[in-house]
Order: sequence, then structure tokens, then C-alpha cells
Amino acid sequence: MTIERPIGPAPHAGRRTKIMATIGPASSSPAVLRELIGAGMDAARVSLAHGDVRDSLVLIGRIRDAATALRRHVTVLVDLPGPKVRAAPFPEGGAGVEAGDTVELVPSDGRANSVAGRICVEYPSLLEDLRGGDTVALGDGGVTLVVEDVTHHAVVARVRTGGWLQGKPGVNLPPGRLTVAVPTPKDLRLLDAVLEAQVDAVAISFVRSNADVLAAKAAVGADGPMVVAKIELPSAVDDVEGIIQTADGVMVARGDLGVRCRLEDVPHIQKRIIRRGVSWGRPVITATQMLESMVHSQTPTRAEVSDVANAVFDGTSALMLSGETAIGIDPVNVVRTMSRIAQRAEQDFDYLGWGVGLGRQQTAEVVDAPPMVRIGAAITAAAWRAAIDAEVAAIICCTRSGATARAISRFRPTVPLLAVTPSARTARQLAMAWGVQSAVSAERPTTDQMVWFAVEEATKAGLAKPGDIVAVLAGSPNEQEATTDVLRLVRMR
Ligand code: PEP
Repeated sequence: MTIERPIGPAPHAGRRTKIMATIGPASSSPAVLRELIGAGMDAARVSLAHGDVRDSLVLIGRIRDAATALRRHVTVLVDLPGPKVRAAPFPEGGAGVEAGDTVELVPSDGRANSVAGRICVEYPSLLEDLRGGDTVALGDGGVTLVVEDVTHHAVVARVRTGGWLQGKPGVNLPPGRLTVAVPTPKDLRLLDAVLEAQVDAVAISFVRSNADVLAAKAAVGADGPMVVAKIELPSAVDDVEGIIQTADGVMVARGDLGVRCRLEDVPHIQKRIIRRGVSWGRPVITATQMLESMVHSQTPTRAEVSDVANAVFDGTSALMLSGETAIGIDPVNVVRTMSRIAQRAEQDFDYLGWGVGLGRQQTAEVVDAPPMVRIGAAITAAAWRAAIDAEVAAIICCTRSGATARAISRFRPTVPLLAVTPSARTARQLAMAWGVQSAVSAERPTTDQMVWFAVEEATKAGLAKPGDIVAVLAGSPNEQEATTDVLRLVRMR
């Protein structure tokens, strides 16, 4: 396909790549939450790895109140801790270990703290699951140990790479050695508590394969939140195709991925997960250390600026901030900075190349898919093509679950994407889909009425004016099997 016209984002489309910010002590007050949303936070991550679930429920309520006050749709994603093994706390200020030192690892009794020579590990079957020759990484992988002996009360290990240990560092056992199921029994208890709060998405940590994602989907139920699979284990990378097809979204969790896979493989894994996830219409979140230096500084390093821009070039749906907004010195400045970098990078994204590539690949992939999937793929591809040929001002999707909006978003059209939905939850969930803005509108009984009201919403949102053409994707509301099977090009009067 040859197109002579220059192609880039429409100037009125705003930033298309979404920003997810982790909320923590530095950002949990109502005032800062409102400022974060004002600065461009589209989705908030509440991690249940630390702290009390009741505090998290209060925080979720505050995020919702801040979004309502600013009339914005904001996704609330709750991150379940999974089987992350941690050491019992080190004393204030931490402790150092040096290469060649011998240390003991002992199962924690819940009372004793860790010290340099004796590290208490919150994992009851430590002595059964480790063997001589195993490598154990502590923290972000800076400190590594090699197991020399396992006695009846301790694992004896030699420090291979020394470093400083503080707080409650993660303890990374060899891949495949964890015997705990995912989601863990603790995850399931936490899930029960947060399901009542009607959260929009839950992130599942340390999924090992598609089977874990299927278990998580069963636990949240048919009307539950979106399930986002965190890809952070080599076995999950191997099974990523199945995981993407089962999950509602995926996260490239580069922190743990970089400990468990070869560090130099991480950028390549990131590119592959983004491309495959987006081509299946799943939001892909690129996470960890994106603007890490801004935990302590007002400006990012040049390498971090490039990392954020490159994630945009890779096609990521959302960029995630962790410590930068949870414990950093100026969370609002971090979101503002990330927003500027993303918006600048979007000017040079290869929109046409992406859409053409996806269309070609999709034709090959949906050959054996069920009819509904083939119809959805064909109609969204047609809308993308029509948007270019008819020079439409906006693409509007009438969508109940959000699936149609995510399906058109994966083509990365340059014009604004508006989802019109009767579901407030769908509108919030679409806040982490690339390029999609949402309007909540009452249910309409016929396709004609759906199209009519969708066009009105686009006009209200300032996306279309008289003389413009808009593309509307809609379904037949009375069909038994809900599907989007109508594409109408409407000339605005
Ligand atoms: C990661 O490991 O990159 C990640 C996002 O997980 P968490 O922050 O929960 O450790």
C-alpha cells in the first residue's frame, strides 16, 4: 500500500500512549492524586505487596474520588504480590556482604531480623527447595550467592557478588524451583477483598504459564476485572503467546525479568511482547526503572529519556512508573516529564508501517479463528483503512466490553479514537488502551440510534465539526452473540 500524504498523529489527538503511576506514600494524599491526574496519569497501580489491604481500599476510594472530581476516567489496577519471596528486614541503614563471605539463609520465624551473616527468608520450604550449586539473587540482582550446603536448619552459601542489602530485599530462587501455585492462596484472599471494591484490573505476579492465567481468570469470574499477566519469568516468556491470548492485558515487568533472564535479552523480550500483545488487542504496559533517577532528582538521565521514547517506538500501550511516583521526591513532575517525552516520541512513530504490518499478519492469523473473531478483525481493519482513504476526523466505537475499541487501537490510527459505552467500568478500563478516550452514554435500542448518539458524543468532545467525515463502528444490539459488524462513514452536517 502506497500513501503519498504525510502521516502522523492528528494535532488534536493529544498524547496517545497512556501513563500508569504506582501510588505510594509520596502520592496517596487526595491533593497529590488530583495533581497526578491533572499532569496526565491515566491509570493508577495499587500494589498489595506491602501494607494492609484495608489501607489499599481507602486508597482506591481516594483515586476514584479524585478522578470523579476532575471528570476523568482513570483505570485502577491492583497488583497482587504473587509468590515473591522476601528476606526479613535488615536493620536500619542495611548491611553489606563481600564476595567470598559465607552466609546462612534460614526460614524466617516471623520475629528475627536479617543480618549480614544470617539472612532470614520468608519462605517455609527453603531447606527443601534449594540444593548445592544453586544461585540465589538478592534485591534487584546486585548480590548473588551460590549454595554450598543445605543442613537441617540452614542453607550455607558463598557470596559471589557482594553489595548492600536493605529493607526487605526480594530473594530470587532458581527458575522453576518455587513450589507455590499462582495465584497464591494469599493472592486469592486479597482478591476477594478487592473484588468488592469493583477494581478495573488486577495484575498477577510471577505467572509461570498460561495455566496460571487461566486460574486467575477463573478466580475473578466472568464479570470480574481485567486480568493483566506480569511477564517476569523465563517460563512465561516461553509461553507468552498462550498467555497473551488468555489474559486481558500484559505487563513487561522488567525488574524481575532482568534478574531471571539475561539482562541483555530484556530489550528484545520487551519488543516481542509488545508486538504480539498489541496485535491481539491487549494493552501492553512497559514497566520498571523508566525514570528511576527521578526518585531522587528533578530531571531524568538522558538514557532514561531514550528508554521512554524507545518504548513508544516499540508500540507500547502504556508506560509505568513505580518508585518514581510511589516514594519519589516529586511524583507530579515525573508524570509531567514522562508525558512530554511520550508526546514528542509519538510525532516520529511509524503509524503507517505499524498498521500495514499488522493488517498483513492478521490476515494470516485469523484464518482458522471462529467467525466472530474473523468479523471483528475484518471490520476494524476496514475502519483503519477507511480512516486513511476517506480522511476521517475520528473513529468512534460503540462498545460494551471495550473489545472493539482495543481492536481498532491496535492499528495505531493517527486520528482520535472515541469509545462510546454504556458501562462506566469499560470507560475506566479503556484509560489504559492506547489512544482511546471514552464517553459514557445510555444504552440505545437500534444500530441507527447508536450511530446517531455516537456522532453527537464526538461533536460534544470537539472531535468533529460540520463537513468532517467520521467512521463509526457499531453492532446490532439485539443479536444474541454481541459483535461489531457495522462500519458507517458519516458526513457531518
Ligand atoms: C517488575 O518486576 O518489573 C514489576 C513491575 O514488579 P514489581 O514492581 O511488583 O516487583
